[in-house]
Amino acid sequence: MTGRVFLIGAGPGDPGLLTMRAAGLIARADFIAIDALVSDAIADRAPKTAEVVYVGKRASKHALPQDKINQLLIDEAKKGKIVVRLKGGDPFVFGRGGEEAEELAAAGVAFEIVPGISSALAGPAYAGIPVTHRSHATSLTLVTGHEADASTGIKWEGLAQLDGTIVFLMGFANLATIAERLTANGVSPDRPVAVISKATTPEQRTVTGTLATIEGNVAKANLPTPALIIVGEVVKLHDVINWFESKPLFGKRIVVTRAREQASELKRLFEESGATVIQFPTIEIAPPESFDSLDAAIDKHFDWLVFTSVNGVSAFFERLFAKRKDVRSLAGIRIACVGETTAVSLRSRGVAPDLIPDKFMSTALIPHFDADLQKIRIAVIRAAEGRDEFIDEMRKRGAEVHLAVAYRTVPVALNADELHDIDVVTFTSASTVDNFFASAPSLDGALLASIGPTTSDALRKHGRRPDIEASIASIQALHDAVHAETRRRGETP
Ligand code: SAH
Repeated sequence: MTGRVFLIGAGPGDPGLLTMRAAGLIARADFIAIDALVSDAIADRAPKTAEVVYVGKRASKHALPQDKINQLLIDEAKKGKIVVRLKGGDPFVFGRGGEEAEELAAAGVAFEIVPGISSALAGPAYAGIPVTHRSHATSLTLVTGHEADASTGIKWEGLAQLDGTIVFLMGFANLATIAERLTANGVSPDRPVAVISKATTPEQRTVTGTLATIEGNVAKANLPTPALIIVGEVVKLHDVINWFESKPLFGKRIVVTRAREQASELKRLFEESGATVIQFPTIEIAPPESFDSLDAAIDKHFDWLVFTSVNGVSAFFERLFAKRKDVRSLAGIRIACVGETTAVSLRSRGVAPDLIPDKFMSTALIPHFDADLQKIRIAVIRAAEGRDEFIDEMRKRGAEVHLAVAYRTVPVALNADELHDIDVVTFTSASTVDNFFASAPSLDGALLASIGPTTSDALRKHGRRPDIEASIASIQALHDAVHAETRRRGETP
């Protein structure tokens, strides 16, 4: 097969704005060259088999000169590889995509262009500024601000006569010159201006003003790059339409300590509310050292199976299927479970639990069992480490109780350096608490959020007070509790 180069726009930052075409090609790529403005979440999608090079200026990484980049793309494609060139925004909007495509054409290398969502459009959209609007702007002009102080380039006179919207990319360093040139050419100093920094990311900030005031306002706000400038009456709509920066948890940095395998739902909920999620998995789920006790729970007939976690359910069914059995083996067995999410994972496997206590703790099961449990056989499916009160009490009442060790939680080596400026740390089990505090993080001022009473107890054992506790043991309830508490604190001065 002959190689091919795909010049791909990776969008403005929010990984959700990657196109399906781009995602599909990244997944198939052999060689990926990544620009500075492409977000890490997108770079992380590179398959393990692909060679990845960073060719843009990034902290501590040097930029490759443009001619070297072009040669690299050509060489790799000629080896027969699928070469993906990822650029911020759209490759043809101030992205040098045109030059690269010309070089590829000259070298006789096959290529395709995959448009991306440009920051020039997505930035204003995420700042609640429609670039055109029937009452305010009938045209949109994209301008490079890079050449603002050069004598060549921009036709300021012409620009000043357009009554529409002007978006400047690469103009942040020249903001003062841009404002000065426009006013010198007859634009009113009162024309609204917005500067949008780190658009479409959880760190997005928008500063507004007029041609006369914007420079001072931006200096006060100490905005970081990348940033774009938008000039025009449409900027006035920012106050009304500002939907992104007003999300309930916008700007909050929230730590998720769950095992990576299980963190996706909680991560998604927080991100949809505008938070930055720092994944800090303190534990990993591993198979048990021996399957003997789990096998016994599957092969022998019990009167009750008790599930205390989603992990226990997953491990049980994985083993059940591995033994070429299925839910029919559970016929006639009563099923108890702790926690609504555990119940959901049972139901998704075609099993409706007979018993779910109100509280997310195994001790909450106790009152639901008879005082006399002679001849009753109960298997508890859980990790080796866990609370034994329920088991002890059942045995006291005469039951035969079997502990089926379905999985282990093993601690993950942690790098606490990633934890800075944290607003909330979330804990979804006692073991995440123990492992987290074993790494001795400094958390000055962060709120501690727990999924339920057992997890809160674990926090108290470490001398910490849970600031937030979910009303029921579910990921949604934990998210909602964090939301409610941060709002409450935001309201009280
Ligand atoms: N091809 C890119 C633009 C490359 S030029 C696109 O279509 O978006 C680089 C300039 O784009 C930066 O100087 C800045 O003005 C702007 N830019 C890119 N990403 C941005 C972001 N997330 N927020 C604000 N400006 C951004």
